[in-house]
Formats: sequence, C-alpha cells, structure tokens
Amino acid sequence: MRQRWLLFAALAVVFGMLAGVFQSWTALSNAFMIATGISVIGAIAVSIASRTDKYSLEALQKVHEKAELDAIDLPDLDFDSVSCIACGTVYNRRLPVCPHCKTTR
Ligand SMILES: [Zn+2]
Repeated sequence: MRQRWLLFAALAVVFGMLAGVFQSWTALSNAFMIATGISVIGAIAVSIASRTDKYSLEALQKVHEKAELDAIDLPDLDFDSVSCIACGTVYNRRLPVCPHCKTTR
C-alpha cells in the first residue's frame, strides 16, 4: 500500500471518536486518546519515511530500472496455449499431445 499514513490517520479518527463515545468511562476514554496520539505519530512517521527525494541517486536508479523493465518486450501470451511438461514447447490447448515430443498432458 502506497499511502500507509492514511491507514494511521483513519485509525486516529476512529480512536478519537471512540474516546468521545466512552467519555464517561474515563480509563477506557484515556486509553483511546493515547491510541489516537500513537496513530497520529504513526501517520506522521510513515509519511516522512515514505517520502522520496526526487533528486536522489536511488530514485534515479529506480526510474532507470523501471524504464529497462518496460523496454523488455514480452511475447503476447495466448491463453489457449499450454506448455509441455516434458520439453517446454508451447502449443495449442486443443492438441491432445505435444507436437514436439508427443507427451500427453
Ligand atoms: Zn513436449
């Protein structure tokens, strides 16, 4: 999940609301308030940790890796094809045996 801080922020809201709901039960309300505080700190920490410097060499390396992966041209996979368990030949599913080694599926 890319925006994990949102999870912590949502938890903070929920804990905050629960603290309000259980206002008459002081111990429980205090526990929820502490949980709210921890969630807020968690959201901030995760947000800071996930921040990437777009001028860093690591970010540049990731951009290059992604470009290289995108450049690799995969053959169009045909879902009517099967791969022979014996020789690896890819052939049409409708054929009962491998056309290369005659192994049955
Ligand atoms: Zn085969």
